Amino acid sequence: MNWWRRVYIRDNYRCQYCGRNLMVDLDSWLSIELDHLRSTATGGTNDIENYVTACNVCNRLKGKWMPDGHESLTREDLLAQARRYVFERRAAWASEYLSAVKEFNAVGESTVILSPGET
Ligand SMILES: [Zn+2]
Repeated sequence: MNWWRRVYIRDNYRCQYCGRNLMVDLDSWLSIELDHLRSTATGGTNDIENYVTACNVCNRLKGKWMPDGHESLTREDLLAQARRYVFERRAAWASEYLSAVKEFNAVGESTVILSPGET
């Protein structure tokens, strides 16, 4: 078995940031990425323990972010802080998305109908 599949299985094929099941359909599976929990730019290694399963969106949102004092954080604490950071970035983009929908709907050519949680 390839080493990265061991990471996916350890993580139950769920994005470790948003919790999305990445085995549920082909598009989800295609969005699987490996993220360096501790970025290599800040001393993160290529050990299997430093990788987490992430969807491509969360991986992009996290980018190379590292919290202050990350050197002394445990893996669990760093993961918890990274989840919080990604969640905050998602919330900011959700707001941007709603603005884009309003702008698009105002054009009147077509209408985006938001799902109940997005209004
Ligand atoms: Zn995700």
